[in-house]
Amino acid sequence: MTLSEKIKEIKLLMQYAAPEEHLKKLTDLVERYETDLIALNVFHNFYSYLPEAENDGIKIIRQLKNRQGAFLLCATTNIDDYLYVSTSEEAIFLGPLKEGINDREVLDYFGFTDNKNFIEKYRDLAEFPVHIPIALNAGLCPICAVASGENHTLGCPVEICPWCGGQLTNCACKFTKSGRKEISRESHIDSFEEKLEKKGRIPFNPGKDLPGFNKLNTKVTSNE
Ligand SMILES: [Zn+2]
Ligand SMILES: [Zn+2]
Repeated sequence: MTLSEKIKEIKLLMQYAAPEEHLKKLTDLVERYETDLIALNVFHNFYSYLPEAENDGIKIIRQLKNRQGAFLLCATTNIDDYLYVSTSEEAIFLGPLKEGINDREVLDYFGFTDNKNFIEKYRDLAEFPVHIPIALNAGLCPICAVASGENHTLGCPVEICPWCGGQLTNCACKFTKSGRKEISRESHIDSFEEKLEKKGRIPFNPGKDLPGFNKLNTKVTSNE
C-alpha cells in the first residue's frame, strides 16, 4: 500500500469511526503525518478497531520511546490515552496507558524494569514530546528511522560500508567479502550480515552520514 492509498483508507474508516462534529480537525491531524508511516499505521489501527467500540478520534500522538525503528507511542483521544508500538510495517495496540504494558517482551525491549516503573514514569503525559514525522526529525535515519548511534536496519541505503566507506547497499564489498557473484538467498544475506557484524557495523551518525542535514545545522547556528 502506498502512502496516499493508506491515507485514503484511513479517511474512509474515519467516516464511520470518528465523531462527525470533530471529523475536520481529526482529519487535519492525519494529514500532518502524511509522509510518516509510523503515525499512519497508528491511525489505521485505531480507526479500524476502536478500543472502546464507540466513535472516537486521535487528538495527539506522543512519542514515549524509540529503539531500532520501533516506536512506543501514546495516542490521546476524546475518551482515553492508548499505547501502541509502531514500525514502518505495522502498529500494534497495547492497551490503555493507565494499565501500562503487560507484555514482558515489550517492557524489556524498551528498557523498563517493570510495569509499575513504566506507569510511574508516564503519569504526566504532557512532559513527553509530540511525535515528529521521521522525515522532519534530523536525529533519526530518514529511511529506516533508527536513532543516532544505532545500527541501521540491514538494507538501509544510508548505512556506510565499514570496508570501503561507500554506500553499503551499492558498493561491491558484499560480493568480494562473501566470494559470491550474487546475493539472492536468505542464507547469503545471513552469512554476509555475520561478516559485517564481525568487521563492525557503522552506526547511524546524523551529522556525518547526512551531509545535507549537517549543512543545514551549520547554517542555523552561524546565524546566531
Ligand atoms: Zn537507516
Ligand atoms: Zn564497501
